[in-house]
Amino acid sequence: MDAQVMCGKSLKAGAVTCVRNIRNPIVFARAVMQQGKHVLLSCRGAEDEARTLGLAFEEDSYFFTQFRFEQLEKARKKSTVVLDHSASNHEKFGTVGAVALDTHGNLAASTSTGGMTNQKPGRVGDTPLVGCGNYASNKTCAVSCTGIGESFIRIVAAHDVSALMEYKNISLEKACRKVIEEKLPEVGGEGGLIAVDKMGNITLPFISEGMYRSWYKAGEEIQLKIYRD
Ligand code: ASP
Repeated sequence: MDAQVMCGKSLKAGAVTCVRNIRNPIVFARAVMQQGKHVLLSCRGAEDEARTLGLAFEEDSYFFTQFRFEQLEKARKKSTVVLDHSASNHEKFGTVGAVALDTHGNLAASTSTGGMTNQKPGRVGDTPLVGCGNYASNKTCAVSCTGIGESFIRIVAAHDVSALMEYKNISLEKACRKVIEEKLPEVGGEGGLIAVDKMGNITLPFISEGMYRSWYKAGEEIQLKIYRD
């Protein structure tokens, strides 16, 4: 499991990677951020820290679903690594991201993932890496990414959206399109992102087959889009 949270006001971030059995990795990542001493904790040392913090752990069986198990078996047989959003995988219950702007103008981003199905043990994707799969700055926007992590790492995707807005003074929509529709395909990437800027503009572009997404603006209806539409 990998998770990251970032606070746009303080630029504090907390992330965990290669941890097992922790019931809620996002709660753990937030605790790392709030402690403020480290940004990214990994492996057994991270799990020990979660125990010290009194966070809930669960047995392997808590995380087991027959659907996910069969998906893994299928990927193993074919020796492939599968992304939640790819065409060959029509049931997606994996990576979850959230971005928010509060009434004080504070932005925040968080992302949690189990990685890619049948990924190499020890592989780390973009999710726990600050600026790659997740980023927030009150100066610009909050961004949470999903897709083939290696490509998001190479283009430092989430921070690139923020940097384009800050240095080129372009809109959130334009910055996100540049990153997802131009830069991501250049490195053979696939996926999408959700983002909100300091004015409350929202955009959710993707170039994968689909991306389940939902958004809400105060006083308006909750919007929900399933897969491609
Ligand atoms: N980005 C994640 C990773 O590469 C996977 C995902 O978003 O589904 O680990």
